[in-house]
Amino acid sequence: MIKKFIRRMLGVKQKPVDTSVPVTLAAAEHKIDPALVSPNAVRVTHTLQQAGFKAFVVGGAVRDLLLGHKPKDFDIATNATPEQVKRLFRRAFIIGKRFQIVHVMMGQEQLEVTTFRGASQEAAPKDEHGRVLRDNTFGEQHEDAIRRDFTINAMYYDPASELVLDYHGGMADIRSKTLRIIGVPEARYREDPVRLLRVVRFAAKSGFTIAPETRAPIQIMAPLINNVPAARVFDEMLKLLMSGRALACLQQLRKEGLHHGLLPLLDVVLEQPLGEKFVTLALDSTDQRIQAGKTVSPGFLFASLLWHQVVEKWSAYQAAGEYPIPALHLAADDVLNAQTDKLALQRKIASDMRDIWAMQPRFERRIGKSPYKLLEHPRLRAGYDFLLLRCASGEIDSELGEWWTAFMEADTEGRDELLAQKPKAAGEAAPTKKRARRRSGRGKGTGDGITGSTADSGTGGE
Ligand code: ATP
Ligand code: MG
Repeated sequence: MIKKFIRRMLGVKQKPVDTSVPVTLAAAEHKIDPALVSPNAVRVTHTLQQAGFKAFVVGGAVRDLLLGHKPKDFDIATNATPEQVKRLFRRAFIIGKRFQIVHVMMGQEQLEVTTFRGASQEAAPKDEHGRVLRDNTFGEQHEDAIRRDFTINAMYYDPASELVLDYHGGMADIRSKTLRIIGVPEARYREDPVRLLRVVRFAAKSGFTIAPETRAPIQIMAPLINNVPAARVFDEMLKLLMSGRALACLQQLRKEGLHHGLLPLLDVVLEQPLGEKFVTLALDSTDQRIQAGKTVSPGFLFASLLWHQVVEKWSAYQAAGEYPIPALHLAADDVLNAQTDKLALQRKIASDMRDIWAMQPRFERRIGKSPYKLLEHPRLRAGYDFLLLRCASGEIDSELGEWWTAFMEADTEGRDELLAQKPKAAGEAAPTKKRARRRSGRGKGTGDGITGSTADSGTGGE
């Protein structure tokens, strides 16, 4: 009786009697628009069904379809094994270690086909904190459903019959805009702490309310994320930042107490008063680009998120007597090293970040051949966009950004004129107060290069 009362107070739903039998929803009830379903997903489910297997669109795609959104990608669940799936398609590849999945390529589209997972993970290898390391036991569809993270992510749609199978009250949660983890939340977070980040991402992205029992353990269990391999945390962070609601996601992370001491990146991003305006502007423009269907480079994004940490260290190195360019290299190294430990920044991303940062003092050189050389830089566009962000945030005078906009648009004659102009405000290579003293061993143009290009290093602001 008391238990029942507490459950009601907490908004805990009565457990469905039997989660092995789904509620079947017809088209008139779920109202999915078949025009939003990728023809390739229809082709893949059809091929599998023709071969005698069960096959459904599953997960985020069904959730998005039910919300009337066009899914960005389609996952398919089937009772065919990965080998059986592979045999049915010309371009299909088995990938993954922790969970084997098949990538089926149809034209430009990649569809992820997964075999129904078994419910019992008791035999699965786990780490000392209970995190499941590897699990490829296959099972029944209802077992697959119980293994999924949220009720709204555990529905199956058959494009042929247009039926939706709902095992955990997902449809009701879609209607009430509730994000609810399936099963006992503590246990589910322990098995896979990445789910903590997923809750935050989905809540911020969809505007759904996190069910109280799903939310309650988040802060307490946050440290478990430290045991997850850095590459997986990075993937999830990237999804979060590229969700089109990055700003909202980071605010939600802070609200759930998931940022502090968890990832050095988040500590820096969410707790640096100096860079707040810059980071807000960067995330806002990222969100706008994603919402407009444009691409965003992870290198640019991370370079923005960490810029003010670089600026701080850059100043500190200069105050200690380092010249601006070597000081910038040292600052970049420090910041990147601190991040790679927990957040596996891929090499390509880290090198893009260095390029973008290293270009900044080069924009200050508005004489001779320097600006022309910079025009040839393969990542000029990213560096220039970054410069504009710095202007917009008030870090540097907007005159510099305006000058570069004009320079990039001008013809040769116009460029010569711009070069002949005397800049209104002399640019500073770094927000340093003290002019650095040349020190032995590290001087101008050491070229120990952020970009690897020695041509201009050591020139900025000297
Ligand atoms: P998105 O729109 O971001 O792709 P999604 O729900 O499709 O959202 P995916 O990461 O593509 O997210 O995962 C596909 C599906 O696989 C999910 O909907 C969910 O059913 C299941 N899933 C993914 N990650 C987990 C996890 N960590 N634990 C349990 N189930 C998961
Ligand atoms: Mg998906």
